[in-house]
Amino acid sequence: MSEGAILTYEKVAPKERHSVSSACGAGDVFIGFALNGKRDDKSWRARSVSCIIARFLVGLICSMAQKLVVGNWKLNGAFATNEALLGACCALPRVDAAVCVPFPYLAQAVSRLNGMALGAQTVSEFQSGAYTGEVSAEMLAEMGCRYVIVGHSERRALFGEDDATVGRKAAAALRAGLVPIVCVGETLAEREAGQVMEVIGRQLGAVLDLIGAQGLSRSVVAYEPVWAIGTGRAAGADEAQEVHGHIRRWLAEHGASAAEMRILYGGSVKADNAASLFGMPDVDGGLIGGASLSARDFMAICQAAAGGNF
Ligand code: PEP
Repeated sequence: MSEGAILTYEKVAPKERHSVSSACGAGDVFIGFALNGKRDDKSWRARSVSCIIARFLVGLICSMAQKLVVGNWKLNGAFATNEALLGACCALPRVDAAVCVPFPYLAQAVSRLNGMALGAQTVSEFQSGAYTGEVSAEMLAEMGCRYVIVGHSERRALFGEDDATVGRKAAAALRAGLVPIVCVGETLAEREAGQVMEVIGRQLGAVLDLIGAQGLSRSVVAYEPVWAIGTGRAAGADEAQEVHGHIRRWLAEHGASAAEMRILYGGSVKADNAASLFGMPDVDGGLIGGASLSARDFMAICQAAAGGNF
């Protein structure tokens, strides 16, 4: 994709955003019907409540129809390169995008999001106190974050985060009003031993124990097979769909609002495999590592998530 194509997105975005919000305006039509006719004081409050619920539900449906693409910059960045990267990225119509940047760059990124959302890559399970080096969910929320990744396999493998810690971090995120992106996934050895859903069930179960089905329903789940992260070997679209379908069933069986939840795929998503992965019915977007460091690749992946018609 050329730089020119990226500029085209920015030109198209406002018009398209309007048409997206027009589609979401179906809620307003509903509300218009609900309010049509004479005002009846007895039922006025009940109608107002129905209108609020209708608006909430339509908004939820509109946002759920869109894929979510989240960039995970990992331990990368510098003021100058961030400036260039963020300057060439922007939100596209029909897709939600977010970037999870290292803590020191949250302040820089928040003012250069171009319609994307902000996230962090980990969070403390603690709210405040004598925990040197930790960053709380409340601090992230104050910085403007909407998302925080918890349980990334690199944190599990390199920093000793176990399933229960991931659950406590998800709970901390929800407490502060953030959306935890709960990463789960098997190693190659576990896949070869036929333990994919056993491992994922254990990882999700520990989170469920801490935040309950309601908390899970407010979270995003990212299926990230460890063997696919940073290796250039992504899961095939059918392979990903099979696991995503299992995860959605697991979530439903454990009381979460599985149909409305987003389940992202992560692991070597690139511009050339994004469309086939995102074409799967249970793949609701992607968690993007390496490719999120290139504006061209990240925007191409966002474009694939949006349906590709620009
Ligand atoms: C990740 O770090 O979450 C990830 C998916 O990395 P990559 O896209 O580089 O495989």
